[in-house]
Order: sequence, then C-alpha cells, then structure tokens
Amino acid sequence: MFVPLTVNDFLRRAEKVYPDRVAVVDEPDQPAESFGSLTYRELAAKARAQAAWLDDLGVPVGGRVAIVSHNAARLLTSFYGVSGSGRVLVPVNFRLAPPEVEYIVEHSGAEVLLVDPEVDEALSGVTARHRYVLGESDDVVFPEGRVGTSWAGDEGATATINYTSGTTARPKGVQLTHRNLWINAVTFAMHVTASDRDVLLHTLPMFHANGWGMPYAVTGVGGRHIVLRKVDGAEILRRVEEHGVTLMCGAPAVLAAVLDAAATWDGPVPGRDRVRVVVAGAPPPTRTIERIETELGWEFIQIYGLTETAPLLTVNRRRAEWDDLDAHERAKRLGRAGAPALGIDLRVDEFGEILARGNVVLESYWQQPEQTAIALEDGWFHTGDGGTIDDGYLTISDRKKDVIITGGENVSSIEVEDTLASHPHIREVAVVGTPDEKWGEAVTALVVTDGTPLTAEEVIAHCRANLAGYKCPKKVEFRDSLPRTATGKLQKFLLRQDFWQGEERSIKG
Ligand code: AMP
Repeated sequence: MFVPLTVNDFLRRAEKVYPDRVAVVDEPDQPAESFGSLTYRELAAKARAQAAWLDDLGVPVGGRVAIVSHNAARLLTSFYGVSGSGRVLVPVNFRLAPPEVEYIVEHSGAEVLLVDPEVDEALSGVTARHRYVLGESDDVVFPEGRVGTSWAGDEGATATINYTSGTTARPKGVQLTHRNLWINAVTFAMHVTASDRDVLLHTLPMFHANGWGMPYAVTGVGGRHIVLRKVDGAEILRRVEEHGVTLMCGAPAVLAAVLDAAATWDGPVPGRDRVRVVVAGAPPPTRTIERIETELGWEFIQIYGLTETAPLLTVNRRRAEWDDLDAHERAKRLGRAGAPALGIDLRVDEFGEILARGNVVLESYWQQPEQTAIALEDGWFHTGDGGTIDDGYLTISDRKKDVIITGGENVSSIEVEDTLASHPHIREVAVVGTPDEKWGEAVTALVVTDGTPLTAEEVIAHCRANLAGYKCPKKVEFRDSLPRTATGKLQKFLLRQDFWQGEERSIKG
C-alpha cells in the first residue's frame, strides 16, 4: 500500500491520541495577544480554520504564503494550516532588512504575507496581494469553528520554501517536500529518542529550516511545545524550571548564553540529568561541550546539516562505548559533527567537499534550475563544507570557501578558533584568511575579549602552545563584537570582505 507522507500525519496523530494534552504554550510576552495554552484538539482546529481562510482568499494548492515572525504559536499553527492544506509556507527570517524580505516575497511569488506586529512598521512597504498583521486579524486568519476543504495529500508536493540565511550573495529558496520533512522529522525523533514526555523549548527560530523539523517531530509524538520569542540565557533557565523542559535546539551561541546565565543562577541549575540540547550551525568548542555536561548536567548532542537537507545529515550522541571516558575525552568525541543519520550516505570528494545523499535532500532551489543542477551534480548534494570521515564519524574542518591556504599549507580556521576559544579571556573569535604578499593568505584572528586587556603576542603565544607554528595567527585584531546571523552563525564573509576589497579574487595562493 502506498499512502502519501504529509506533515498532516504529525498533527492528525497528536489530535487522535492526545486531544486534551497541552500542545503548545505560547510566548506570554509578545506584542500580539498570546494564544496562551492550546491543546492538540485546539491546535488542530486552528490549523483547519486557517486553511478555511486560505480557501476564502482563493489561494490554490501550491500557492505561497509568506510569514515573517518571531517564534509564536501562530507560526507553529501555520506549519499545519498552510502546508497541511497543500499550500506552501515561506517562513522568513524576522531579522532581515525590508529590501531582503521584499526580495523573498517577490521571488517566492507569495500571494499572502503575514507579519508579526513587531516588524509591521519596518516592513510597511513590503506587500503582497493579501497582507495581514498576526494577532490583529485572528478573526479572519483563524476563523473560529471553520474547517477548510481537505487536501488529498501528495508527498512530492512542496511544503515549504526556506530562504537560506544569506551568507552568500542573494538568498536561495530551498524547496522542501512533504516527503523531505516527514523523513527528517521521523529520523530526528528517533535519534534524539523523542517521546510523549518531551517538552521542547523553542530556542531555535522556527523559520530556520522549519525549526530543524521539531515542530513536526514533537507534535507527532504528542510532546509539548514551549514557545520562546527571544533567546536570553536566564530566561531559558527560568522556562526550563517552570515547564519541565527536556529538549532544546540551537547554535553554540545559545549554549554560551545559557552557560553565562548559569554562572550567576541562584541555586541548582534546572534540568540536570533531564535536558538534551541539540547543537548545530558551527562546531562548538570542546570546552563548551564539557561545561554543558559537567556544569549543567545536560546531555549534549551535536548534529550537522543544512537547510537544503531539511536539515539532518549526521548525529553525534554519547554512545555506550564512551560511558567510561572522562568528561574531557567524551567532549572531544562529541566535538565531531557525527555519524550519518539513518538513510544518509556521506562521502568526501577529491577536493575535500562533503557530499550527501538521502531522502531529506531538497527537491530544488525555487526557480533556480542552474543552482539546483550545480548543487545536485552527479546525484550527490554538494554541501560546500570541507571535512573528513574517520571511523564513520564526520568532522567538519572548514567551510570549503573558508579554508585558509598559507604558504601552501591548508589551515582549518575552525581548529584555530577552537584553540583560541579555550583561552580564559577570549569570549569570541573568528579566524579568516587575509591577503598576504609573502604567504598568499595570512591566518588572521579577530578576537573579542571578556574585557581583560590582551596583547596580540599573548594571543599568538596561547596558540603556539597548542598548534603547529604555521597555523598560528600572523595578525590579531581586537573587536567589540562579531557579526552573526539570527541563529548565531558567524558571518565570516562579512569579516573577510573588509580585508579583500580591491583584490582580484577572495583567495590567494
Ligand atoms: P544553514 O543552511 O543556514 O542551516 O547552514 C548550514 C551550514 O551550517 C552548513 O553548511 C555548515 O557549514 C554549518 N553547520 C551546520 N552544522 C554544523 C556543525 N555541526 N558543525 C559545523 N558546521 C555546521
């Protein structure tokens, strides 16, 4: 028998098995009126009502609906109300500037635009055929008691278009099908052993690769969603305590915020031996992993993936063989990106680029056939990341575009960053290649200290104690902060850009 896999399966099951359970606790502190707590029965009713509204507007199956919103129950509902009724959800990064949002709305051909009240004014010039402010138009967008026409379901249909975070020139629209999302969510749920006892704190923006698929996975098992609008370390700890949180996802920057807050937390840090924290976006320093496990008593799980892969490609979770290792040794093993998730094939090509195959790989980039063909050349997805595979475990040594070649030797900027980040007075660091007459590229460290004055010599000396000489920075510059995307990923291309202006190319041998 063949039954199409669609995102509706997740909510349908939760509604049937756990109708009276609290499905979602909306953010209490937001400009729109909070949805408060919704049971699975209520969440499903809201999704059906939203579908009825789209029927009324005449948005056809396949029509695009863009949403620019912080994490919110209305956005969570839309994962089902929009995609579940056969329309295509376009969740947009709320930190983007108006022209960037405009580009996405236009490029995706969205007929409907929903905006959070907080961004309404800034985006007043961005329009679509229908534009609504979330919360101000609930009677219309979620008409109580209405039920939309049901969609037959097609697992090959596009469920979402996610524009990638713009670390290159123009963002590309990643077209993910119901099948992509279904397989990602179920595989993810298996690898983190999600269950009906799970309480997920949404520390990751839902727009980012659909919250890595957690809005589906946690729903499918009947877990509870706790909406968090803004990442703040102390607030995360408070919610962990208040709601009995067991699971959260985020970039390493989220971990850093939690660790900072834990240092001044009054009493035992909540969630010990209960919370699992899933981290990706960049490889967290070994020291951070160790501190998560020892100071917080939370389980650290690393994954690796991209928006284009829905995102799960690899998982690194403490395995039985590591139980007897000390915390530092275990943290070193957890510092790798991980082993392939179920159904994923990985290999590293002759240029050191990681290639992946699996059912989570994107259908295509929206209206960009050439880009799609490049990314999927030879039937493998080209990640643009550089790495190695040992004992089945993938280590990301660098972004392909980010390898520094100095004096003919390859240097992994991540390795240098990891070493520098272990300096007690370095809070953040980025290592980039800068043009150098003698070496081609010079390893350059941009450093944010914790306020303690440091000299370039001290920074370099710290490196020399840990790394080969050619890997140590030739130059050190001190900065007040480093540019990051909404999910906390370092925007190295911005840092590099300053140094490479006027050069013919952005790499040099
Ligand atoms: P995005 O599509 O915005 O989620 O970004 C995906 C990119 O984030 C990947 O291509 C990697 O460069 C990076 N990334 C994701 N997970 C990891 C990880 N565990 N370690 C290192 N880099 C990662």
